[in-house]
Amino acid sequence: MVEFAQLRDRMVQVQLARRGIRDRRVLDAMAQVPRERFVETGFEEFAYEDGALPIANAQTISQPYIVALMTEAAELKPADKVLEVGTGSGYAAAVASRLARTVHTVERHRALATTAAERLAALGYDNCVVHTGDGTGGLPEEAPFDSILVAAGGPEVPDALKGQLAIGGRLVIPIGDLEHEQSLLRITRRSDTQYDEEAFGAVRFVPLIGEHGWAEDGTRSA
Ligand code: SAM
Repeated sequence: MVEFAQLRDRMVQVQLARRGIRDRRVLDAMAQVPRERFVETGFEEFAYEDGALPIANAQTISQPYIVALMTEAAELKPADKVLEVGTGSGYAAAVASRLARTVHTVERHRALATTAAERLAALGYDNCVVHTGDGTGGLPEEAPFDSILVAAGGPEVPDALKGQLAIGGRLVIPIGDLEHEQSLLRITRRSDTQYDEEAFGAVRFVPLIGEHGWAEDGTRSA
């Protein structure tokens, strides 16, 4: 039998620590969450390879390094209330849930949301709440958030998400003109009206589809 715990430790060393992920809490969370339980049946043996993997509805579970990079950039603290847009498999939500108080995660595909909710509950990630819907408008009824992580790439930063950040809150989101190529941005809310923006390099995410993202046919709906 494959020793998943060993593969996970190796992933943390080789794919994350050696590539510059420094936050000990992020490395520990990534060493805890069993990625093999979030991939599709039959893909377990590839769970600790250095890449994204396909999941249902033509979506992906993100590359471990990208999950770590985004989580580190989000600077999650134990008391934080977090919003994730793009639940997918639920893996990144599980990682964030080790570092924050509550994680609300929104997925537009009902089937993915249902599977992720069942999986997170079965694994005991009780501080994750899965919602179905278009996350480009955020989750006004739960705002403000200390951090918002967007796991799909949009054409521009949705104002609704910026507006749902607490003061000091961080929004980590891939943004780009091309549907499948983006720059990873961190937007920090400094006051009611002032936001700082930093770039964390080039990334490739599936498109963020919704009212303040791309339209289904790849044109801008924002
Ligand atoms: N975080 C996920 C994980 O750990 O498995 C990976 C997410 S996958 C790269 C991106 C997800 O975003 C897809 O499941 C896609 O359906 C979802 N998505 C795209 N646009 C969305 C939107 N407007 N609202 C909610 N989810 C959206």
